[in-house]
Formats: sequence, C-alpha cells, structure tokens
Amino acid sequence: MTAALVTGIGGQDGTYLAERLVAEGLEVHALVLEADGHPDHCPDEVVLHTGDLADVEATRRLVADIAPREVYNLAAISSVAQSWDEPDRTSLVNGHAAVALMESARRVGDVRLVQASSAEIFGEAHESPQDEETPLAPVNPYGAAKAYAHLAARVFRQRDLHASSLVLYNHESPRRPTRFVTRKITRGVAAIARGEADELVLGNLDARRDWGWAPDYVDAMVRAARADQPADYVVATGTAHSVRDFVAAAFAAAGIADWEPLVRQDAAFFRPADPAELVGDATRAREELGWAPTVGFEEIVRRMVAADL
Ligand code: GDP
Repeated sequence: MTAALVTGIGGQDGTYLAERLVAEGLEVHALVLEADGHPDHCPDEVVLHTGDLADVEATRRLVADIAPREVYNLAAISSVAQSWDEPDRTSLVNGHAAVALMESARRVGDVRLVQASSAEIFGEAHESPQDEETPLAPVNPYGAAKAYAHLAARVFRQRDLHASSLVLYNHESPRRPTRFVTRKITRGVAAIARGEADELVLGNLDARRDWGWAPDYVDAMVRAARADQPADYVVATGTAHSVRDFVAAAFAAAGIADWEPLVRQDAAFFRPADPAELVGDATRAREELGWAPTVGFEEIVRRMVAADL
C-alpha cells in the first residue's frame, strides 16, 4: 500500500485531505499534537502519530520509519492573529520545522512533498492579482515564516526533491475554526438568527480576501504531488470580496436583510498590519494541474451558514 504522511491533521485541510487519501486507498499516517487528541472528522483508518513537527529529530525518525511516497506539510501556526501573539513559535513551526521536514523527505528519497504556503507571503503586494512571480513582501510573522519555507522548497527542488509549494489563498468551510473571520461571522450570524446573540463584533470590514472552498484547495495539493514536475503554484479563485460582503451574504443566507445595526467594529479586532487586498491568479495551476475551483463565494457562505444554523 502506498503510504502518505500528513502533518497538521488537526486542521481544516488536514481532515479533508485525509478523507480524500483514505478514499483513494492510501495508507495515511498523520502527525498530531498531543493536545489535539483525535481530531474531529479524522477518518478512523488514519494512523495517528502523536508529536510536534517542531521536534525535528522525532519527525525525522518518523519519516524514515513510514517511508511515505507523499508528504503534505499542513502543520503550522495557522492564523495571522496568533502569529502576532507567538512570533517565535511561528517561525519555529512554519519556517524551521518545514525546512527540516523537506530534508527528512529528501533523505528518504522517491517522495513527493507539498508545502502548504500562503498568500500572506505576498503581504503588501504591489500588484494584483498576484502570481508565482510576485515578489515576496510579508507584513506579519506568519507570512515571514511561510515565505522562508516557500523559498526553501525552491532550494530543495534544486537538490532533486519533488517539492511543490502551494500558495494557498484563504479557503473556508464549516470546519474552519472561529478564530478566522469567515467562521466567526457565520457562527455569529447563526447565533443572532436563533436569538442567542444580539450583535456581531468585528475588526476591519474593508479588508478584501480571495475566499475559496477548502476541499478544492486540498484537490490542488494532491494534483501537485502527482504532477510530473514540482513547482510553485498559486491556488486561488481570482475574485476578492470584502469582509463586509461576507457579512452581508451571511446575514442574507440566514434571512436577515437589515444587518448593519447588528454589527459593531471594535479596535481590538484590527491588526497591527493587514494586507488590504489579496487576490491570486491561478493560471499556472489551471494549465499545469488541470485545477479549477468548483464552489463560488455565495455558495461557500450559504454552506457555512447552513452548517452553523
Ligand atoms: P487571514 O487572511 O489568514 O488573516 O484570515 P482571517 O479570516 O483571520 O482574516 C481575514 C481578514 O478579516 C483580515 O484582513 C482581518 O483583519 C479581517 N477581520 C475583520 N474582523 C475580523 C475579526 O473579528 N476576526 C478575524 N480573524 N479577522 C477579522
């Protein structure tokens, strides 16, 4: 049986990816933080290994033992907000440990590695949409650490590791934790619709993001792992919406038209630095991987609100 290793199984993408790989008949191993226990939505077939990606030596032994054909590095401090609270651990996990995993994979040989990178590596981009040639200009600790791992994937390709770095734009689902604005909104709107809350408190409503459907982004990862050549790929829908648009769509999905009095902005939820608009051009992923997003913005919002209701 072909083995795959997924780090970061406790997150949204990890469980969608594990479901997909198990369904394909792969032997799926996953690295999980002790604190995460058995992650929700994680298929029973997955072989869970408790550990921390940042424990580089233990991870190296694990990779050598499993000898996977595919490695998906999804483990990360996954939110920008959290990276401001823990910048040192963010650089350790999102940067250093990712590079160590690439070296572990290279030593095993005959393996394809997918690095989950992020639109945050472009930060204050001077061009929109961004593509694989856009200069890296992160504006927060999360983006800076992801940029380091992204560059390292290029370096490891020169040492013949089949390593692809996927520059994933925001991607959402009902499994998104509430520290992300989309799920915070859909859960908050559902609470208001049920009469359990009377307002939704948010930060910057003018920030614009390119929001896609998480399982589509997992599909891009699998396609990249199995492509003949490794490369960098922007994975995005190409369309940006504001946080305000998301709020309006979420209230509409819950049948509430007059939403403005129900939303309050609070300085506590504004970021010290925040890319104003991130939109990706996924032409390369379309042309070389045959990838395309399958779920549009309104439908993503509808599905998330329906799940929270
Ligand atoms: P990110 O793009 O990876 O940082 O994903 P988030 O979902 O955390 O944030 C997306 C955008 O929503 C950012 O520009 C935030 O500044 C903005 N935003 C506005 N209000 C909030 C809020 O209450 N919580 C979060 N997490 N983000 C907010």
